[in-house]
Amino acid sequence: MIPFLDLKAMNNRYSNEIEKAIRDVLSSGWYILGKEVGAFETEFAKYCGVKHAIGVANGLDALTLILKAYEIGKGDEVIVPANTYIATILSISANGATPVLVEPKINSYNIDPTQIEKQITSRTKAIMTVHLYGQVANMDAIKHIAQKYNLKIIEDAAQAHGAVYNGRRVGSLGNAAGFSFYPGKNLGALGDGGAITTNDDELADRLRALRNYGSYEKYQNLFKGLNSRLDEMQAAILRVKLKYLDMDNEKRRQIAEYYLNHIKNEEVVLPVVENGNRLSHVWHLFVVRVENRDKFQEYLTQNGIQTAIHYPIPPHKQKAYEEWNNCCLRITEEIHRTVVSLPMSPVLKLEDVKKIVEVVNNY
Ligand SMILES: *Cc1c(COP(=O)(O)O)cnc(C)c1O
Repeated sequence: MIPFLDLKAMNNRYSNEIEKAIRDVLSSGWYILGKEVGAFETEFAKYCGVKHAIGVANGLDALTLILKAYEIGKGDEVIVPANTYIATILSISANGATPVLVEPKINSYNIDPTQIEKQITSRTKAIMTVHLYGQVANMDAIKHIAQKYNLKIIEDAAQAHGAVYNGRRVGSLGNAAGFSFYPGKNLGALGDGGAITTNDDELADRLRALRNYGSYEKYQNLFKGLNSRLDEMQAAILRVKLKYLDMDNEKRRQIAEYYLNHIKNEEVVLPVVENGNRLSHVWHLFVVRVENRDKFQEYLTQNGIQTAIHYPIPPHKQKAYEEWNNCCLRITEEIHRTVVSLPMSPVLKLEDVKKIVEVVNNY
């Protein structure tokens, strides 16, 4: 069976360095907010081309904390793509603000900028963009709208570590960005982790307190904060893996390009790279669309290829968002009904990629 994602093989490539990093943390005797987190924050900020990175517990908290730091909450509205992993939307709800869902473009899967303006009201405070499946959203168009209406741009960069747009990295394209280091992400820890990047000094300062009970100094609490810290162990592991991120992303691009150039089957709709720049996609996932998805997935399984669905149920049809269950978001629903993710990872072998193409072409 060709696995959808082989996390063990991915991390085994760096096992010596990772084991050393873990031993060093163990013997340091310091496990929370120490020199590893500090060093990772400096290195990750430099990598993204921003002034500040703040390590937090996970990607959902990263987004939740950004809104909290901007005091976007009850009575405020945040524009968000309807077609995203539910965490993006949960971060808005967690602050008591109202998520306003906007349809994506069917070929890029990312938010359709032409659908944003009609959803803006006097309560709109921010646009939360998602670089879904690893592809940067259409930031030029989004920035234009944000400037016109004086809105903050918050990037959900959980699937797009390292992607480049107009010469700049994801994480530096808006006012602030949230990253996840969940193990399966392009930059993944061996557990949960996340970070916020920003050039906003004041925001960064507030976030450093908010992630730590609202405190800069022990037992002095200035804000009603959370406990949401990246731990030393994960930071040490991420420092090892960050060095290889560009190389890993390049391997993903090569696999994606092989798929794009060689899959030729009228039943299988391939993903589209917008922006005309291969660096603007880091292929967290390679997602195709097929009319009879169940049949296609079963066929691939029978031929030894494991696939996944990202995602089977759109957020507005989830029980958690019962108030939206009767909404009709045609494009979002069409995407959720037809998407299938083919195997994609930096350790996928060329012979396996070739086999997948052959099997897909024979469907
Ligand atoms: C993974 C993910 C998140 C949440 O990250 P966690 O670290 O799992 O909390 C948010 N948004 C998107 C688009 C994601 O893929």
